[in-house]
Amino acid sequence: MTPTRETFGNISQAAQVVFYLLTVVTMAVFAYGLWRRFKLWRQGTPIGVRELISGGVQQIVAKLKPGLGRLLKDGLGQQRVRGRGLPTWAHLSLFTGFMILFLGTTLLEIDHIAGWISKSLQFHHGTYYVIYEFTLDVFGLLFLAGCVLFFWRRTRRPASVGLRATDWYVIISFLAIGVSGYLVEGLRIVWQQPTGLAAHCSPVGLWISGWFAGISETSARSAHQVIWWLHGLLVFGFIASIPYTRLLHIIVGPLNLFFAKPELGRMTLITMEEVEKTERIGVAAIEHFSQQQLLSLDACMECGRCEDACPAFATEKPLSPKRVVQDLKALMTFNLTPPADKDAGAPGSKPRPLHDDTINIETLWSCTTCNACARVCPVRIDPVTLLTDMRRNRVGEGALSGTAATALRRMQSSGNPWGLPAAERGNWSEGLGAPTVKENPQFELLYWIGCAGSYDRRAQRVARAMVKLLKHANVNFAILGREEKCTGDSARRLGDEFLFQELAQANIATLAKYNVRKIVAHCPHCLNTLLKDYSQFGGNYEVIHHTQLLEQLVASGRLKGDAAKATGGPITYHDPCYLARVNGIHAAPRALLSATAGGVAEMPRNREKTFCCGAGGGRMWMEEDPKKRVSTVRAQEALATGAKTVAVGCPFCLTMMTDGVATQNDSTRVLDVAEIMVERLGLDGVQPGGAVAPTGS
Ligand code: SF4
Ligand code: SF4
Repeated sequence: MTPTRETFGNISQAAQVVFYLLTVVTMAVFAYGLWRRFKLWRQGTPIGVRELISGGVQQIVAKLKPGLGRLLKDGLGQQRVRGRGLPTWAHLSLFTGFMILFLGTTLLEIDHIAGWISKSLQFHHGTYYVIYEFTLDVFGLLFLAGCVLFFWRRTRRPASVGLRATDWYVIISFLAIGVSGYLVEGLRIVWQQPTGLAAHCSPVGLWISGWFAGISETSARSAHQVIWWLHGLLVFGFIASIPYTRLLHIIVGPLNLFFAKPELGRMTLITMEEVEKTERIGVAAIEHFSQQQLLSLDACMECGRCEDACPAFATEKPLSPKRVVQDLKALMTFNLTPPADKDAGAPGSKPRPLHDDTINIETLWSCTTCNACARVCPVRIDPVTLLTDMRRNRVGEGALSGTAATALRRMQSSGNPWGLPAAERGNWSEGLGAPTVKENPQFELLYWIGCAGSYDRRAQRVARAMVKLLKHANVNFAILGREEKCTGDSARRLGDEFLFQELAQANIATLAKYNVRKIVAHCPHCLNTLLKDYSQFGGNYEVIHHTQLLEQLVASGRLKGDAAKATGGPITYHDPCYLARVNGIHAAPRALLSATAGGVAEMPRNREKTFCCGAGGGRMWMEEDPKKRVSTVRAQEALATGAKTVAVGCPFCLTMMTDGVATQNDSTRVLDVAEIMVERLGLDGVQPGGAVAPTGS
C-alpha cells in the first residue's frame, strides 16, 4: 500500500468547517494587530518604497538585490545570531525547527486544497510522504530543543536580556505546540495502524504511539480528536498573538533587514530645502524618524546584544542602546496611536516630549558612535542613527554646550577644533621635505593629515613618521598644507550637519582643484568621512588607510622591516572602531606588525569586535570623569596581554590609549603603527624607550 495519510483524518466535516472559520478569525486578529503597527510606522518620513519598484526590470532587481541579500544572509542564514553560545544554539534550533514545521504545514495545506480541485493533483503520498514525515518528525525535536533551551535561558537570563510576562506565554505555548503535535502523531498511528515504511518514517511518533499501547481504536480516535483540537487552538493562539508579543520580530525583523541601512558609518543627508520645508533640523518628535526607523523599533526582541557591546553602558554612562530603542518604541506606540485606538487605561492622550523626557541630553551625548550596537544587532536595528538624528535637532536648538560646543565654534572659525590658525597647519612638516600639491603637482597620492596630525603635538609625530616612510619608499605624494580643513567628522557626528557640510564642500572644492583621486589617511575618522560622507556631495575618491599603504610597500619590497630584529617586547594592537568595525580594515595593520615586529598579542575583543577608545562621535572634545573613561577599560584589556607596546592606527585612539595606560601607572608605550615602522627601519623617528626625536614643531 502506498504510504500516505489523510490531512484531516479522524476529523469530521463539521469540525473542518469550524477549523477554517477559526482560521479566518485568527488571521483577522493577526492582520488587525499588524495593521495597527503599520499605521504607526507609516507616520514616519517616507522611505520611497514606490521608487524601489519603479523602472525597468533590471533597475528593480538592482534596487532589491541588497535587501534580498541581507534577508538571505542575516534572515535565513542567521548570520548575526551566531557566536553567542547557548543563545545562538537556542535561536538556531527554534528557528530551524520552526521554519521546517511551517514549510511542512504549508505544503500539507497546499496538498489539501489541491485535493478540492482534483484528487490527482495531490502529492502527499509515496516517497514524498516518507521523506516529508521523517523530516518533520526529526525537526520537531529540534524545535522542542530550542524551546527548552529558551526556557532555561529565560530562567537564567543576564540583566541585559529583557523579560515580559508574555514571553512566558510564548515559550510555554511553543512547548505545548511541539508536545501536542507529537501526541497527535502518536495517537494517529494508534488508530490508523500504518505498517512498514508508513509507520517507521515517523520514528518519534511511532515511539510515542507505544505509550498508548493497549487502548482501543475508539479511545485512540477520541483522544486524537481532543489533542488535535488542543494543538490547533494553540497554533491559532500563536498566530493571533504575533503582532501583540515579542513574536512580532518574526514579521518585522525580516522587514527591517530588507529596508535597513546597507552599511555602517554612513549618515543620512539633510538639505537646506528640507529644513526650510519642515522648519526643523533632525528629529524633534517621534514621527520625524523615517518609516524604516519606526519599523525597526518594533523589530527589537530585547536580546541585549547591543547593550553588552556598548562602551558607554559598560562605563556607567546613562546610555543603553536597547533602552533607547525600547523607550522610542513606547513613545511611538503612545504618541502615534490615535486616541480612539489607545488601550483602555492608557494615561491621557497628550503627546509626550521626545527630548529631555523620553531621551535626555546626557544619553544623547554619551554615544561614541562606535557602531558596536548596530554591528551586533541580529535584525540590523541602528541605535547610532537614532541618536545622531536626535543630536542634530538638539544642536540646531543650541542645546550643546561646554567643550564640545567650543570645538564646533573653532571648526567654524578656524577650520579645526583647536582653533589654531590655518597658516600653522603645515608647521609640523618643517624640515621634512613633505611637498605640497603646489610644489609637486604631478603627485600620485595625496596624504591627508587631518587636524590632529596637523596641530596635536603627539599626533604630529605620526604624520612625521609617515612622511619619512613615504620618502624612504619613494612614493610620489603631496600634502594640502594650509589648504586642508577639518573633514567635519566630529561636527557631523556631534549633530552639526550644516557645519559639516560647509567644511566638506570647502575640502571637496580644494580636492577638485588639484584633481585628487587617491588619498591616504592615518586617521580612520578622516578616512570614513572622505570615503562615505563626501560621496553625498560628489566627492568620490579612492581612500586608503596608512596601514594599507604601508603593507603594500612592505609586500612590494619598497619598505623592508625585519621581524627578527624586533625589540621592545610583545605588541598588542587596538583596532580603531572606524577602521576595523566600520570599514573592515584589520588585516593590514596585523600583516605589517607581523612583518616588522614579530606579530600581535591579541586582546579578546579584536577586529570588528573591537572595544572603543571613547573618542568617537565627538566625545574626543568632551570632559569625562576619569573613573568612567572607556579608554581606561580598553587600556586594562591591552595591558592584560602582557604587551610592552600598544599599537594603534588612529590619532584619537593614540590620545585616549595613552591616557588610559597612564591611569594604570604603566610604562607601556602607545605608538602608531607608522611610528613602530620607523623605529624598526631605523629611520630616526622614535628613540628606544618611547622618546621622540624633536623634529619640526
Ligand atoms: S536593538 Fe537589536 S541588539 Fe539591541 S536589544 Fe534590540 S534586537 Fe537586540
Ligand atoms: S554607537 Fe557605541 S556608544 Fe553609541 S550606543 Fe552604540 S554601542 Fe553605545
